[in-house]
Amino acid sequence: MEFAKLDVCDKTRNAINDMGFTTMTEVQARTIPPLMAGRDVLGAAKTGSGKTLAFLIPAIEMLYRLKFKPRNGTGVIIVSPTRELALQIFGVAKDLLKYHQHTFGIVIGGANRRAEAEKLVKGVNLIVATPGRLLDHLQNTKGFVFKNLQALVIDEADRILEIGFEEEMAQIVKILPKERQTMLFSATQTTKVSDLARISLKKGPLYINVDEKKDTSTAEGLEQGYVVCDSDKRFLLLFTFLRKNLKKKVIVFFSSCNSVKYHAELMNYIDVPVLELHGKQKQQKRTTTFFEFCNADKGILLCTDVAARGLDIPAVDWIVQFDPPDDPRDYIHRVGRTARGGKNGKSLLFLLPSELGFLRYLKHAKVPLNEYQFPSSKIANVQSQLEKLVEKNYYLHQSAKDGYRSYLQAYASYGLKKIFNVNNLDLTKVAKSFGFSVPPRVNLAIQSSK
Ligand code: ADP
Ligand code: MG
Repeated sequence: MEFAKLDVCDKTRNAINDMGFTTMTEVQARTIPPLMAGRDVLGAAKTGSGKTLAFLIPAIEMLYRLKFKPRNGTGVIIVSPTRELALQIFGVAKDLLKYHQHTFGIVIGGANRRAEAEKLVKGVNLIVATPGRLLDHLQNTKGFVFKNLQALVIDEADRILEIGFEEEMAQIVKILPKERQTMLFSATQTTKVSDLARISLKKGPLYINVDEKKDTSTAEGLEQGYVVCDSDKRFLLLFTFLRKNLKKKVIVFFSSCNSVKYHAELMNYIDVPVLELHGKQKQQKRTTTFFEFCNADKGILLCTDVAARGLDIPAVDWIVQFDPPDDPRDYIHRVGRTARGGKNGKSLLFLLPSELGFLRYLKHAKVPLNEYQFPSSKIANVQSQLEKLVEKNYYLHQSAKDGYRSYLQAYASYGLKKIFNVNNLDLTKVAKSFGFSVPPRVNLAIQSSK
């Protein structure tokens, strides 16, 4: 179905044209019409299938039809689990609103709260927000008019319903006007219906699951593989891989901020330039890194799962999961950073021999994977140089220790204990991968029973 056939105003139509889109994706074709008719919709479709426009077009049309002015306050709130995703949705909203008069803004943790409040008081018709900061403004910003709210959109809804956001979301929903449209979008359809009830959909919401009958849960253009690699060879393999792919655009996922930090310092030190993105950075730094990597046509980004959800980073060639994800859903989100919008991409998952059982879970989640082999002769043997470096360089040494400790802590907190059992790790081998010939003494504060 063509965008031209949609009953939208010229301003929106021209903006869609300028963005270069003509044909709707399946999720757009199936959700935009009922959303424009005012229905509550729960839309599920793979990552990269165009969900952002599916909720933004109806939301903006609604503002236009009701002639929202600044003095009417906020008509649409879009909630995103991460700040980077909020920034990105904001960017798409900006493009779509190009010819409109409506005001729009962003409200995220780590940004200047006061500047946000001043803007909100002037009347922001469409807001993109992360839950914590939104709740803060709803409770504390006097003059923030949200009584006219028409639509609440929750992107990555299954994530927003998880622990951590659940409580904030419940409070947000309690404060917001009840007479409104609710749009929930997610890539993975594992959310229980009872969970959704808590988010107070109106009666008779429409469930639209684009991928119901498909036999894979990841994008068609995605080629996925795993490699079995023992703890002591993990860094060497990663290093070899990245050095071979310096001309490509690569995202590498780690399980902890400290491990990202250490590996970023190390890689940059040994002339493998990388960017880093994780929760221990200031928001300003996170934002600039995110946009720098978006705009780059090659490069390596080391990150935690802050970058796993929803982000639309152009032309990523490889997704490397150096530390495995906690469950298949996280896997699907991570690899969803490539092969977006019908394009191709590749992914590589590192597994220890003891973690092979994870493949069964992936298979069950309809993830097709092949085994990749890396002949040991091709793996750069830089272990002794690595150990020397980590021994001599005070900062790297500290950082390696933090990384090592955090890796173990993260390992101990995996949900799938049968597969990721911290007691099965060979600490001598793990330490080697962090550049230690002998495992450093670290205060783990982890309990084997956890
Ligand atoms: P999702 O939220 O489902 O993961 P996005 O909304 O981020 O997906 O869109 C993924 C990519 O597809 C983006 O780069 C977007 O610009 C592009 N895209 C969206 N709609 C269309 C369309 N109708 N035709 C072509 N490309 C599209
Ligand atoms: Mg999305």
